[in-house]
Amino acid sequence: MSWRDRLRDEVRALRAYEPEGVGEGARLDANESPYAPEGAEREAAMAALADLAWNRYPEPGVPRLRAAVAARLLVDPAWVTVGNGSDELLPILCTVFGKPPPGRARASILIPTPTFSMYRLCAEPLGLEVRELPLGPRFELDAAALGRAVSADPPNLVFLASPNNPTGAWVERAAVLAALAPAESLVVVDEAYGGFSGRTHRDLLREHPNLILLQSLSKVGLAALRLGVLVARPELVRELDKVRLPYNVNAFSARAAEVLLTRFGDELDQRIAWVASERERLFEALCALPGVEVFPSAANFLLLRMARASLVAEALRARGIVVRNLDRPGPLAGCLRVTVGTPQENDLFLLSMQNILAGASPP
Ligand SMILES: *Cc1c(COP(=O)(O)O)cnc(C)c1O
Repeated sequence: MSWRDRLRDEVRALRAYEPEGVGEGARLDANESPYAPEGAEREAAMAALADLAWNRYPEPGVPRLRAAVAARLLVDPAWVTVGNGSDELLPILCTVFGKPPPGRARASILIPTPTFSMYRLCAEPLGLEVRELPLGPRFELDAAALGRAVSADPPNLVFLASPNNPTGAWVERAAVLAALAPAESLVVVDEAYGGFSGRTHRDLLREHPNLILLQSLSKVGLAALRLGVLVARPELVRELDKVRLPYNVNAFSARAAEVLLTRFGDELDQRIAWVASERERLFEALCALPGVEVFPSAANFLLLRMARASLVAEALRARGIVVRNLDRPGPLAGCLRVTVGTPQENDLFLLSMQNILAGASPP
């Protein structure tokens, strides 16, 4: 017997997630914030870290971090659990709610596509079937079709990224309600980019026991911390906490985030607002480029569609700008995803796009 004989088929068929190589210049490919906490914020967080006992495990369940998160989201701490990034919460959800329905061999998830690749990547190795509901030609989500798909053959879990990655589209209230209404599936609304949209579906939590909300600190300037947040009713959170590894969030990240969220929430919000207003400027400027289709975005990135997108991505790279090239056969053919950067980075990106589309070679 070879070790290969023990490999799950689902894993053999997968490819590891590989972020694009880190280059010099403007990194507009990973939806990170161009702004990190600096000055007094950084000093306050570093001072708090200095007091940590390196020989001790983190406090079980990181209660102080959960309280800080809960205060920011205006929910009770019993409704909150945290993950090493919200990515870590996805396999936990698939495990806890992965019971095959009566008469079926496998549990399933439903995702509108294209969407965040991690839902599939987490569900498949655990043996869950992945069902897709294709978005429309301009990536619109048909709420009625979603409702029909959920009620006709209820999946265990529905994942709705709102705003969606990579399209940037906010998921309308009607679509969330259509997924929730049959009350037979858990509906996970992933608001990793929620801050940039100025809207939330959080208020639906009270009335809908099958709703789960995800949030992340990764896109708002704290990607290095790896902190994700889940909000759901306490009974449900308690089931998830049985499977979540006891010390999944490290004491350093927990402490730094607690300080930043409790003492510098306004500064965090200010940086989110800067990025959102730059997104609007970038959107207007890109709409003026000939041959470029720009999709409205409620997130910190914009999805573009154009002829010869891969060549444009290469030409941008030659100019020191990295964007996410999504151009391959399928629904995202011709698409690039560009993260909103600093005003200077965005200007450089715009100028480069103008030159590339006008057929100029790099300087
Ligand atoms: C980036 C992203 C996340 C965040 O993942 P983390 O593990 O918290 O960094 C979650 N959902 C979507 C849709 C994303 O694009």
